[in-house]
Parts: sequence; structure tokens; C-alpha cells
Amino acid sequence: MSVTITHAYRFALDPTPRQAGALSRHCGAARVAFNWGLAQVKANLGQREAERSYGVADEGLTPSLGWSMYAMRKAWNQVKNQVAPWWGECSKEAYATGLDQLARALKNWAESRTGKRAGPRMGFPRFKSKRRANPSCRFTTGAIRLEADRCHVTLPVLGTIKTHESTRKLHRRITGGTAKVMSATVRREAGRWFVSFTVQVRRAERAPARPDAVIGVDLGIKTLAVFSDGRPPVDNPKHYDTARRKLRRLSRTASRRQGPDRRTGQRPSNRWRRADAARNRVHHRTAHLRRDAIHKLTTSLAREYGTVVVEDLNVSGMLGNRKLARVIADAGFGEIRRQLAYKTTWNGGRLEVAGRWFPSSKTCSGCAAVKPKLPLRVRTYVCESCGLVIDRDVNAALNLAALVKRHVAGSGPETRNGRGADHKTGPARQVAVKRPPRTGRPPPGSDRDLRPVTGESPRIIDTSVNGERCCER
Ligand SMILES: [Zn+2]
Repeated sequence: MSVTITHAYRFALDPTPRQAGALSRHCGAARVAFNWGLAQVKANLGQREAERSYGVADEGLTPSLGWSMYAMRKAWNQVKNQVAPWWGECSKEAYATGLDQLARALKNWAESRTGKRAGPRMGFPRFKSKRRANPSCRFTTGAIRLEADRCHVTLPVLGTIKTHESTRKLHRRITGGTAKVMSATVRREAGRWFVSFTVQVRRAERAPARPDAVIGVDLGIKTLAVFSDGRPPVDNPKHYDTARRKLRRLSRTASRRQGPDRRTGQRPSNRWRRADAARNRVHHRTAHLRRDAIHKLTTSLAREYGTVVVEDLNVSGMLGNRKLARVIADAGFGEIRRQLAYKTTWNGGRLEVAGRWFPSSKTCSGCAAVKPKLPLRVRTYVCESCGLVIDRDVNAALNLAALVKRHVAGSGPETRNGRGADHKTGPARQVAVKRPPRTGRPPPGSDRDLRPVTGESPRIIDTSVNGERCCER
């Protein structure tokens, strides 16, 4: 059995200065086509608006422009000799890239406005600036190939460009006939060129190493990930915090130089540009370090476990907390979840997401009592019902894992409501009751008294055990 997956392979490029110029030219051409198309659309909308204000009937208006990539490409081909007499210097794919980007932007805006598109509101597309955008250009046809020496790629018009690293992984698949390149995108980030291949890969169906294993993953700031099965926790690398010292120095350098000023139209000096580029390279490196660490974590989880359980964290909501936003954004919770979702599917496992209202930290993993409150600074969970003393994050991870185990057993009731939100904790939930600390005995009259006595006396509280479960039932 084999499955077909769309995969991206990305390589850093080492172009010659001449090739770097050609790469910039292609991306610039894409930007020109984008800005040309946007100007047409804006003029057309403005014209129709003005006509309407004069009381022209809808059928009498100037016809609206087609917003599809094909319609705009047709219009572009009719005028390109006047608009861009130099168009022959670049591949036609460059202009198609710009118009495709514009068509998508317009579609996103229109669908967001009519409510067809979920997520944050999309604004109307804006003109692309030569300086601000990350230039990119996408090739879908023509001579796109990896060279046999595994260290060069060939792109239309641009020719053969050296890659910084070996293309072995993709080349092996292409020669083996299990991969087909759909498109290649070149892109400049922090002064460096990259090529990214979108590839349809046919590969054997995979199974995780332990298909029946369930792991609960509690994501946090102190430690990035804590697991329910005793797997050693993953430290939060806090790459951004490490980079901040460097950034502070580089920002100070930049601030002493003549930067751009939009109000006065001041152009930045070349010295400022150099300082700014150095600062951007630090940001870029930080992003790469973060990405690498997250990929390693999610890959190892998806390869090993049949079921991975995480919480549905409200990341954009948490970013609203100004004291925590920096560390939360640095940790990359959203990206971890996104990668787990597709990697578990690729590896034949599944990802379960506990609802946003599931009190994973406040629930006792031993007896399922729920605390009404548990401030973030309390790092150790102490259960007043059963006397369990356990690390806060391990407790949360155990609860997440238990959530799925219960559902798998089929004993849990339906906890999804009409909106698909899951905000019941499951069948074993108890109401928290106030009781004298650590007596292990419920107050008279509480519902715990109704439980059949099993002959065992209340469990012994052993607080000396460090972060271990001490009330295993
Ligand atoms: Zn308990």
C-alpha cells in the first residue's frame, strides 16, 4: 500500500553574483506584474464607484475586470509591450507569479468580506514595495530539474544554480520514480536565496513504532513539553531570549545611523542598511533554530506513538497577555500542533485535541477531582481529595492521556456540543470540595461518603516522593 503526499523540499542556494541578479530580476518582475494588476483593479473599482455616484444604472457601468489569474494574464499579455518593454528578460512564470499572488489576495479579501473565509479579516491588497517584501517567484513549467551531481538545480531562464547543501534526499526519490516536482519557488530571506520544491511523493504507508501507545503532551513555557509516560521532558530552548542580547547591541548600532523616515521622506544610509541586515540575520537564525527544535520534537512523537493528545491552546488569546506574549510566541505552540497534526497522519497515527475548556491542570490525575483554582505559580499539584502530590505539568499530561484512553474504552459519554466544542471533562468528574488540608478524608456529608468502602483505609500521603505519583489506585 502506498500513499501520495505533497511534500516540500527546501534548499539554500549559492548563486553567482550574476545569477543573484537574475533571481532578483525575476522576483522584481513578479512584483511589477502584481502592482500593475492591482492598479488596474483599483482604477476599475474607482471608475464604477464614480459612475454609480452619478446615478448610472448597473447595466450602464464600465464592466468590472476579471479577477482570476487567467483573465489578468490575458490582459497583461496585451499590454506588456507598453508596460514592461523589458519583459523578455524574464521567464513568463515571473509575471504569472505576480498575477497569481494578486488573484489570491483579491479572492481572500472578497471571501473574507462575505464571510466565506474563516479566520481574521483580510484587508484589500496593497502595492508591493521593492524594499519591504520578501521577493519570491514560482516556476510551474519549463526546465525544472535537479542535476545528477546532487548539488545543482536548474530553473527556467535562470539556468543551473549551485545549492548550498546536497539535494540527495529529493534526487534519490526522483530517480527512483517516487516523486514528481510540481513547482519550484525561489525566495530571498535575510539576504539569502532559497529554492523550495513542491513535490508529490508516493511512499509506503507507515505505522508508528507503538501503535497502541497513547501519550499526553502538556505544552508550557517553563518546560516546552512534558509527557504522560515518563519520557524526559523537553526544555524550552528560548532561542529568542538568547538572541535578545545580540539584537540589543545590533539595534543600538542601527539606531545611531541614519535610518528611513516616512514623514520626511528620508532615505536610509548604506551604513544603516548594513546594520539592519545584520539585525535581520539574527532574527532569521532564531527562526531557523526554533523550527529545527520543533521539527525534531514533533517527528519523534509522531513516529513513536499511535495517539498523541494535546490541548487546544488559545494561542492568539495568550499572545494578548503582554507579559507572556514574547515567550509564548518564541515557544511556537501553534506550530507544534500544526506539525503534529500532519505528521501523525503521515505516520499512520492520530492527533487528539482536548477541548479548550478541559481543565487539564486543575484535574487530579489520581481521582479526577477538579480544583476550582490553580494559579500558574503553583508548580506542584497537591490533591486535597486523595492526597496526590505530583508535578503540575506531569499531572496535566496524564489527564490528557487519560481523556483519550477513556474515550477509546467507550465508556465516556458524548462530550461534543452543537458547536463542536468539548467542554465537559468526562465521566469521572467530581465536584471539588473544601476539606481540611491533607486529611485524606472527605468532610461529612460530601458525596465521597457515598462511595462503597473497599476495605482499604485512605491512602497514605508520602510527600517525600518527588514528582512521583503517590496514590496509585
Ligand atoms: Zn486526587
